[in-house]
Amino acid sequence: ILTARDLVKEFDVGGATLHAVNDVNFTIRQGEIVGMVGESGSGKSTIGRLVLSLLKQTSGDVTFDGENLASLSDKALRALRARMQIVFQDPWSALNPRMSVGRQIGEPLLLHTNLSRSERRQRVERLAERVRLPAKFLSRTPAELSGGQLQRVCIARAIATEPELVVLDEPTSSLDLSVRAGILELLAELRRELGVAMLFISHDLGTVKLISDRIIVLYLGTIVEEGPASLVFGAPAHPYTQALMSAHL
Ligand code: ATP
Ligand code: MG
Repeated sequence: ILTARDLVKEFDVGGATLHAVNDVNFTIRQGEIVGMVGESGSGKSTIGRLVLSLLKQTSGDVTFDGENLASLSDKALRALRARMQIVFQDPWSALNPRMSVGRQIGEPLLLHTNLSRSERRQRVERLAERVRLPAKFLSRTPAELSGGQLQRVCIARAIATEPELVVLDEPTSSLDLSVRAGILELLAELRRELGVAMLFISHDLGTVKLISDRIIVLYLGTIVEEGPASLVFGAPAHPYTQALMSAHL
């Protein structure tokens, strides 16, 4: 459903060129969970943003469902946003502190569909149920919910328009270990039930291993390893992956 080809992103930092993403190629198939791991600064978040066209690449292409994102009009790109969504690391900063979480879950529906107010409310209730967020929370503001509950809100909002791809940028990193497991379970369940493809970004190999069909290992902006979780873990080819694994064990 998504292909990144020869993707390059350079940043200009104080006159010097920083190569954040170097010639990255990968594919995400329909309904597939691809885990992307790498240490801090290896370019994971940059790739997540490039993939959704939230950031413009220096060179290379991103193709979603056969459409080259760079060649789309603003209007076409806006329409496509209903089909690809993102969940960030920190649910507190991803949400509006003054708006009820129910309204925030319904925002993409307001933006991308012609549903009536009551139809939207019904959908939001169904979404809350789907992410196991008790309905009584919907009228509350983010400050009244826990981190894990807020991440459920962000996930509900991300799947509101039934996207085909969701990019998750360290969605469990800011959460307690016990809450983390619940969120991972939820994501696995959503993939089973909705068939939604995911790019799951994390610096934690253990987390990625639990959920991914395929793993991409990034090192200094370059893919150094790619393959089924069992292969990457069973027989890591690159020294960096081996180092990452021994750090994990
Ligand atoms: P982390 O695990 O810490 O989230 P990451 O793998 O997500 O790291 P990125 O955020 O993609 O890494 O950053 C990759 C490199 O690009 C880093 O060296 C970072 O400092 C740099 N970078 C990212 N965004 C910008 C920007 N807007 N301007 C300049 N440099 C940037
Ligand atoms: Mg990041």
